[in-house]
Amino acid sequence: MENIRFTALQKFLEHSHIYEDKKVPVIDSSVFGSNVFDLNTMSKYVAPEAYNNLKEAIETGKKISRKDADHIATGMRIWAKERGASHYTHWFQPLTGTTAEKHDTFLDFDKSGSAIEKLDGSALVQQEPDASSFPSGGIRNTFEARGYTAWDISSPTFIVGDTLCIPTIFVSYTGEALDYKTPLLKSKEALNNNAVKVVRLFDKSINKVFPTLGWEQEYFLVDEALFFARPDLVLTGRTLMGHASSKDQQLNDHYFGSIPERVLMFMRELEYEAYKLGIPLKTRHNEVAPGQFELAPIFEEVNLAVDHNQLIMIIMKEIAKKYRLRVLLHEKPFKGINGSGKHNNWSLMTDTGINLLKPAKTTKGKLMFLSFLVNIIKAVHDNADLLRASILTPENSHRLGAHEAPPAIISIFVGNYLSKILNKLEDCGKNTQNDGFEQYMKLEVSNIPEILLDNTDRNRTSPFAFTGNRFEFRAVGSSSNCASPMIILNTALAAQLDKFYHDVEKAMSEGKKLQEAVISILQDYISKSKNILFEGNNYSEEWVKEATKRGLSNISDVPESLKSFIDKTTIELFDKTNVLTPKELTARYNILLENFVLKTQIEARVLGDLAMNHIIPTAVKYQNILMDNVHTMSKIFGEDEYKKHVGNRIEIIKEISTHVNQIKTLVYSMIEERKKANSEQDLQKKATMYSKNVLPYFDKIRKHVDKLELIIDDELWPLPKYRELLFLR
Ligand code: ADP
Ligand code: MG
Repeated sequence: MENIRFTALQKFLEHSHIYEDKKVPVIDSSVFGSNVFDLNTMSKYVAPEAYNNLKEAIETGKKISRKDADHIATGMRIWAKERGASHYTHWFQPLTGTTAEKHDTFLDFDKSGSAIEKLDGSALVQQEPDASSFPSGGIRNTFEARGYTAWDISSPTFIVGDTLCIPTIFVSYTGEALDYKTPLLKSKEALNNNAVKVVRLFDKSINKVFPTLGWEQEYFLVDEALFFARPDLVLTGRTLMGHASSKDQQLNDHYFGSIPERVLMFMRELEYEAYKLGIPLKTRHNEVAPGQFELAPIFEEVNLAVDHNQLIMIIMKEIAKKYRLRVLLHEKPFKGINGSGKHNNWSLMTDTGINLLKPAKTTKGKLMFLSFLVNIIKAVHDNADLLRASILTPENSHRLGAHEAPPAIISIFVGNYLSKILNKLEDCGKNTQNDGFEQYMKLEVSNIPEILLDNTDRNRTSPFAFTGNRFEFRAVGSSSNCASPMIILNTALAAQLDKFYHDVEKAMSEGKKLQEAVISILQDYISKSKNILFEGNNYSEEWVKEATKRGLSNISDVPESLKSFIDKTTIELFDKTNVLTPKELTARYNILLENFVLKTQIEARVLGDLAMNHIIPTAVKYQNILMDNVHTMSKIFGEDEYKKHVGNRIEIIKEISTHVNQIKTLVYSMIEERKKANSEQDLQKKATMYSKNVLPYFDKIRKHVDKLELIIDDELWPLPKYRELLFLR
């Protein structure tokens, strides 16, 4: 039988020319948003009254009437039809991590029974999909399978292919959130409510505050033929075995290098499609690892940015196929080289156009900046475990702490300049008598430059870094829904700002002036949370030790980390801010645990199958060849003579036996552990058993497989090797 690896390599060479006959249009701003029913387009298709009511509803959060919804739906349908759409769908983000859609045509019948096209307000605003196959974490009773999807008017509808997509939230029949969007919108609201109170202490012209998000999406591309020759990539999204390539990223010659032509054409088509969908892509480049790339848009309001990231992850996979490429969004597709993250650049913006993480001109504005900076530090400090839980997926757990990825210790980098400012803040008023605060205002605060971008050094190793006018949460994984960490950041900050506002009010009621009140409270926050500030190398061993000394947690075990979702403090936080109920939190916790169990189970099966069905037979085949050779040699040469010739071949034969025996023993033991875990009824215990007793076998088995890869005849090896997967043409 032919070796599938060689057949795949042959196809790979053919694929490398595929771009030559593709014609990809060049992007320009005129196509931007052409497939989006944004407010501008809507104004041309919807009567002014309904349009104005919707606009007001978006701004105030009020509901729109059924009549207005009908008008808007009709305009939307006409527009969609003009652009070739025949179907529509509610587009939502269930807790599976991907997006969901169920397409319906516009077909309907009028009173006379003639076929017509129709989309009415009720179909636009609300639907009841069968929710029984989406994860609900125990919220939904099996007899009540219905769920509701409801139109999110703040994110515009768009067309993909022949389908009009309507972004919606997804809740259970009893009203509990079963998605990412619902709590994200609520967290925005909570943040707005509390942030507005705080900003108005400094600037009465502000009426609204909203979070902004700019994500940087890293990903790998592999050739489609090679991808299909790796069952582990197909089934789990990552390689469960494979020896390191002699050369991979050591020379850093891929980073910012010239982009291979085939990849460039893929990127161009992706950008073109993204533009049509109003996704403002800005940057594209090679990443550090060979085969790894990144794209990033201009930042947007958080809800829209999350939708756009979900959308881009879908369309990039589709477009890649046209180039016989596969996108790997897994956080750690290859061992020993960089994994993929999705840096979440996060900041806060006001309706007056102020970025709250950029110091304003006035001293008051600068104090406002400092207030937000310190409150964020405090919020992250107090919720570090929860923040980690929001990004520590099974996939990301392989990335964090490995090869050039931040460790599972949450720390904050603010840069040299701000560090000094914060140090002085902590000390002010302590050495001098009464004028400490005032002096600090005069000397430190009013001298903060308006542009910190030039004054902030970069630390690429920090999981959470201030980068001049925003925070960059770098620990987020490449396949995550950004909403997961955004919900936590928004909510934690909302609660923190509420506390800050009350602390300031209290201090002022005791006779302190605003500035003095603010400074003294920030001073207190800094001394309570400064142990999370770290300016050094987060990748170093010393930091792990230092963090332990400081009492910072370092949890890379997924089930252990997820427990934060049901912590007393978490439950209080979400209750107080009205973002998630205790029931919803418990459901999320269960869903994430279950997800961990299932993914680990699938990987364990794939690993076992590959080891037993691909690797051991190949090893035995090669061993037989060697043994034939030894046998023949013994016939040609005499008893004493032949051993001199074949001694090292016998060593190889023995070595192969050792690895084969080890693999078999380990796979069988792993299966035993899996069985034990599977019979455990308690989900939390089961997940822990998978983590502690099953997962550790992965590396042990892999070690022997990877050793065999080095020994066995290359012509027999069945799986594409790292050196073949990583270097695209
Ligand atoms: P780097 O690689 O240096 O981190 P990039 O230019 O690749 O920088 O990405 C920076 C991201 O941060 C972009 O998506 C950018 O739009 C985003 N960004 C810039 N300002 C803000 C802001 N105020 N809020 C949120 N994101 C921002
Ligand atoms: Mg970045």
